Amino acid sequence: MSDRLIFIGTAGGRASVFRHIRRSGGFLLRLSDLWVHTDPGPGAFVYLHQMGFKPTNLDCVVLSHIHLDHSADINSVIESATDGGKKREIVLFAPRSAFEGENRVVLPFIRKERIAKEFILEEGKEHEFKGLHIKAVMRHTHHRTETYAILYNRRILYVSCALYEDRMLEAYPKGLDVMILNTTLYKKTKYIEHLTVQDAKKLLSHLKPKLAILTHFGYEVLLNHNLDDIAREVEKETGVKTLCAFDGMEVAL
Ligand SMILES: [Zn+2]
Ligand SMILES: [Zn+2]
Repeated sequence: MSDRLIFIGTAGGRASVFRHIRRSGGFLLRLSDLWVHTDPGPGAFVYLHQMGFKPTNLDCVVLSHIHLDHSADINSVIESATDGGKKREIVLFAPRSAFEGENRVVLPFIRKERIAKEFILEEGKEHEFKGLHIKAVMRHTHHRTETYAILYNRRILYVSCALYEDRMLEAYPKGLDVMILNTTLYKKTKYIEHLTVQDAKKLLSHLKPKLAILTHFGYEVLLNHNLDDIAREVEKETGVKTLCAFDGMEVAL
C-alpha cells in the first residue's frame, strides 16, 4: 500500500475539542508499510472504528505531548491495538513526561503489559523501527509541557503545538515533502503558546516544503474564518501549496 495521511480529527485546543466543534483524534500515517497513529485525542478510539479502520492493524502510536486534546484516548487506542492484550506488538513514541511523573498519561499497566517497545522522544534524537524513522527535531515552548516537532522518515514534519520561535527556522529541515502545522489561531489576540496562521506563513516562506497542511484549528478560527480562504491566503503569500485539513481528509504522500 502506498504512503498516505488520513486526518481523524482536526480540532485543536480546549474550546474547539471539548465543545466538539469538529472531531479530534490526531492523524494516521501509512509509512514504511506501517500504520502510525499520532496524537490519539478524545474520540480517536471510536472514530477509528467508525472509519472502518481496525486498530489491531496499528503498528505505532506517536504522542507529541500530554495535553488531553492529544492524549485522551491513548490507553484505549493501545488496548484496542493489542486486542485487549492478546497481540503485544504496538510500539509507542512519546516524551518521557507521558510515561513518568504525576501527569503521566500512559497508564502503568498499559506500559507494563501492552506496549512492546517504548521510544522516548528527546530533542535531536532519531529512532528507527522496522524502517520507520522518527526524530524529535526541536523541543517547543508550549505552556511548560514537553513537546517536540516530529520528523517522519526525514520527509514529513509534524509541527506540534508551540509558541513561534525564530529558532524553528534553523531547526526544521528545508524543502520537505510535507509539513503538518498545528495552527490553533488565525492571529495572536492574546498570549497563548500556540502557532497562528501568520506564524505558519513565516515558517513556510522560509522552509519551502512541497506541501503544507494546516490542522488543529481552535474555536476562534473555526467560528470566524473560512478555511478555504485561509489556505488560499497562505499559498499566495508563501508560494507553498497549502491545504486546510478536514475530518477524514486523505492525502497521498
Ligand atoms: Zn493541542
Ligand atoms: Zn497542548
